[in-house]
Amino acid sequence: MSALKGNLHAHTTLSDGRFSIEEVIARYRELGYDFLAITDHDDRIPNDYWFRIPAGDDRMLILPGVELDYRPLSQHVGKVLGDRETLYILNHPARYALTVDQTLRRIRGISRDGLPIEAVEITDTGIYQPEYDVEAIALPKIATDDSHDDEHIGRAWIEVNASRDPDAILRAIKAGDFAVRFA
Ligand SMILES: [Zn+2]
Repeated sequence: MSALKGNLHAHTTLSDGRFSIEEVIARYRELGYDFLAITDHDDRIPNDYWFRIPAGDDRMLILPGVELDYRPLSQHVGKVLGDRETLYILNHPARYALTVDQTLRRIRGISRDGLPIEAVEITDTGIYQPEYDVEAIALPKIATDDSHDDEHIGRAWIEVNASRDPDAILRAIKAGDFAVRFA
């Protein structure tokens, strides 16, 4: 079983991304990704958003998702769906200049409020943010490129030890069975 290369955070013209969903998918295919989550902003997506996300295929799985604006804190939370599994991610804490303690408090508060955070981004649009790559944050730490435009696509990703199945991938991420990679 070889590791699967994937990105859990990407935008399209269904919110504020530059490229159509078809173009975004084609670009990640060209880069050899095994899976891609589409995660447009929940306050900007059209009513038929979920129906506009195409099914993937054996070569590249597509995981439907959304980037939630957790309004009490204006904190973005990634929600990525498998067939039965759901993964909630605390997105780019660096963008809010959070300390580690503030990050932990947000994880606890948001989780108590019904979005059980099980992973944290240690990137901001694909740039490594080492201050969050610390043991005190005892959750799997993922790298994503949060792509909105050309320069973001392919900057950071994860390689997951899982079979080629959305639920298996999300379970492996929750278990920490992956590596982070940067271009
Ligand atoms: Zn985003």
